[in-house]
Amino acid sequence: MSGLLIFERSVPGRRGYRLPPSDVPAVNRSDVLPAEQLRAAPPPLPEVAEFDVVRHYTKLSQLNFSVDTHFYPLGSCTMKYNPKVNERVAALPGFSLIHPLQPASQVQGLLALLYELEQLLCAITGMSAFTLQPAAGAQGELAGLKIISAYHRRKRRARRTILIPDSAHGTNPASAALSGFTVVQLKSGLSGRIDLEELKRKLNRDVAALMLTNPNTLGLFERDIKTIAALLHEQDALVYMDGANMNALLGISRPGDMGVDLLQLNLHKTFSTPHGGGGPGAGPVGVAKALDAFLPVPRVRKTGGRYAWSERGRFSVGRVHGFYGNAGVLVRAYTYIRTLGREGLQRAGESAITNANYLKAKLQGTFPVPFDDHCLHEFVVSVKRLKAHGITAWDVAKRLLDHGFYAPTVYFPLTVEEALMIEPTETESKETLDQFAKALLDIAHEAKTNPELVRRAPQRMAVDRVDEVRAAREPNLRWVPSCAPGYRPQDASCRTHAA
Ligand SMILES: *Cc1c(COP(=O)(O)O)cnc(C)c1O
Repeated sequence: MSGLLIFERSVPGRRGYRLPPSDVPAVNRSDVLPAEQLRAAPPPLPEVAEFDVVRHYTKLSQLNFSVDTHFYPLGSCTMKYNPKVNERVAALPGFSLIHPLQPASQVQGLLALLYELEQLLCAITGMSAFTLQPAAGAQGELAGLKIISAYHRRKRRARRTILIPDSAHGTNPASAALSGFTVVQLKSGLSGRIDLEELKRKLNRDVAALMLTNPNTLGLFERDIKTIAALLHEQDALVYMDGANMNALLGISRPGDMGVDLLQLNLHKTFSTPHGGGGPGAGPVGVAKALDAFLPVPRVRKTGGRYAWSERGRFSVGRVHGFYGNAGVLVRAYTYIRTLGREGLQRAGESAITNANYLKAKLQGTFPVPFDDHCLHEFVVSVKRLKAHGITAWDVAKRLLDHGFYAPTVYFPLTVEEALMIEPTETESKETLDQFAKALLDIAHEAKTNPELVRRAPQRMAVDRVDEVRAAREPNLRWVPSCAPGYRPQDASCRTHAA
């Protein structure tokens, strides 16, 4: 029974929930909906009991990794533990049951929260104002680039180039290209940071902005940021900071003080909303004073203790999201910031840095760190030494699953051969970090003594190594019936072979 797909469990007429008889007169569907929007036949959905649905989804969730079940050191993604109090607050009826079309007079609580969140983000980053509309980091980038375009247009000049370091997150060049800019790549210097000479060579009057990540994706702080910003400002070009890695700077340093003109934050990362798998996020964009008038509208304004939406914004780039943005994520971020407070945020930032440096020190004897320096929230090791045994970063990542850990980001940044990008976050204990380091060192040993084991990993998961392209094109969702009930990961027969 348990081996059946949910579709195969379908029994005609079986229902999870039956509505009581209607006490209002029935209307004909075709009288109220246009004919082209009506189905000819009902959708082929499984007809099952509520319990079948619960079991189906619970089982699926048990086949997966999550922050709540496993250490999840996915570099650049900040998979920290998300306190459950955030969920409680977001679920309060005053937040969860209101409608975006209610008049402002009825939603003063949420508007006050949004207003205060903007102030808090300004205090944390040193920026002058924020829009909370963008729904993700990448959409924040896009909104930021629209502001950059509008700024130069307002000065009546066409600037077509965005400079982006080669260590940048892939969304940066994508967002710049999507906004109609030409991307010019900056080759990193030997320290893994921006090379000032390379920057000077590529900087000219066609540059609209530099888009950098600080700390960068190698987990290194751009120490020359003030000089870099001054060089750009000399050309009246802007400095855009991808602030997705803000976790390391919390309470310690502020982009606004470094000469950054605009940035996006990833609230779902730094400020703790469960993310990944395409769920809702929030990528607010903060700007320096000179760019305030370009921010998207509407903005929440406060007059005499009352909050209201304002469409005012002299050079505004317009709306980038409907209504309030992803309000639920904004409530979680607000709760997180208020729970930790100024000192708590600083401790989070410091602990994130300590954890990453601790783990780096434990690993680097076996796995070289190509751009070795004190790191911030994350670091990148290379597993190239294992290539002699035919083992790649991919194999190590898969073998980690067998050892009970989610894998780090692999093959990124592109500047490091056979890269594992590791971000432990501040929420993990020393014991967990020790266990993870031991697992990686054990895998390095296995690579020498039993490389076949590593190459064939994972062996203890419900699904073994899949051909990822084929799995996406021709998904085989069937789970071998002999596995169930009571899935036991150690039972080798309990696996489907995706090939
Ligand atoms: C995660 C991340 C992004 C993209 O953020 P999304 O919310 O996934 O769109 C951009 N830049 C960096 C450095 C990131 O880590």
